[in-house]
Amino acid sequence: MAASKDYYEILGVERDADAKTIKRAFLKLARKLHPDVSNEPDAEEKFKEINEAYSVLSDEKRRANYDQFGNPDGPTGFGGDYVDMSDIFGGFGMDDLFSSFFGGMGGNSGARSVRTRGRDMGLNLHISLEEAAAGCTKTVAYDRLAPCDDCGGTGVGESGKVTTCSHCHGTGRVVTVQQTILGQMQTQTTCPECGGTGKIVEGACETCGGQGRTPSRETVQVQIPAGIHSGQSIRIKGRGEAGVRGEAAGDLVVTINVSEHEQFQRQGDDLYYVLAIDAFEAMVGTTYTIDGILANEKVDVVVPAGCQYGQRLVVSRYGMPRLHSSARGNLIVAVEVSIPTALTDEQLTLVHKLMVQRTSQAEKENQIPKAKADTKKKRPRKGHHK
Ligand SMILES: [Zn+2]
Ligand SMILES: [Zn+2]
Repeated sequence: MAASKDYYEILGVERDADAKTIKRAFLKLARKLHPDVSNEPDAEEKFKEINEAYSVLSDEKRRANYDQFGNPDGPTGFGGDYVDMSDIFGGFGMDDLFSSFFGGMGGNSGARSVRTRGRDMGLNLHISLEEAAAGCTKTVAYDRLAPCDDCGGTGVGESGKVTTCSHCHGTGRVVTVQQTILGQMQTQTTCPECGGTGKIVEGACETCGGQGRTPSRETVQVQIPAGIHSGQSIRIKGRGEAGVRGEAAGDLVVTINVSEHEQFQRQGDDLYYVLAIDAFEAMVGTTYTIDGILANEKVDVVVPAGCQYGQRLVVSRYGMPRLHSSARGNLIVAVEVSIPTALTDEQLTLVHKLMVQRTSQAEKENQIPKAKADTKKKRPRKGHHK
């Protein structure tokens, strides 16, 4: 059961190293071994190894399991509540995160990217219909490039400094003039020396390599308003990818997915509910008390006497709360009437009695039209006989 790999040895840290030291050691190695930057043949293999070591040692619970049982998933080998990041969309897997960290803005020189502002990130969040009705706050864990803790996002090390790029004089752009068949053409390109930032970092921060941001697992509180619909999203400013060296961060866009409910079906702000009653209840009328969509909410559904199969009973203002409003949709109850089976002999006799009584009463009430109908039927027969 014990893992054969020594994660501490792989990252080159002491067994009692704190989280910051582990992260620093990992980033230092990762910058050297990432397949985007390393030419060594076994770089990918080694990168996977340090990645695995870091994924365990950076997670408090998995690290404790590893220390105690030699297995990050604990003595039973099950992962427990380890957060699955598969819900992040828009190309923001851990691989992409590392690619933009190591492959993109590299630091001091030879930078290839123009983009210094952080990108927007998106993730899906599933909530229940009850949570959508009441509104809720969810804590979401996700990975992003976050401002570097060690340099405060500046990218500058303790003894380093930032100077204006002499190649572009701080503009980040280089203008070249070319003679073409159409005449003189001026093209503007990103300065290759500073990668468009207009600044050169001397003595970059070792943790982030001068970028001012590092891959981090973070948590964010998402406030979800009551009445939200599936597909609507909440934008959290500045919680997307951090910008290079303190440039503006992107936003985190959380798209809400409201799960289907067992009892209620939502149509706009209305809720539909199927109420099953039997024929006797439909005939006589009854009142059912059902659980509403909000916590501890009881709703009285009054079934009128003579209620028909499929009849819709509207209970006002017991549907979903309307977004950003105190109004509510309606609860629409569709009645499903079933005919009782397995009646006792005694009960059948009673029903039969009732039937006979109703028939004789109906005959009394409808004597005249019935007589008319009879004569109509008999007339052709008479004619036939003659
Ligand atoms: Zn420049
Ligand atoms: Zn830094």
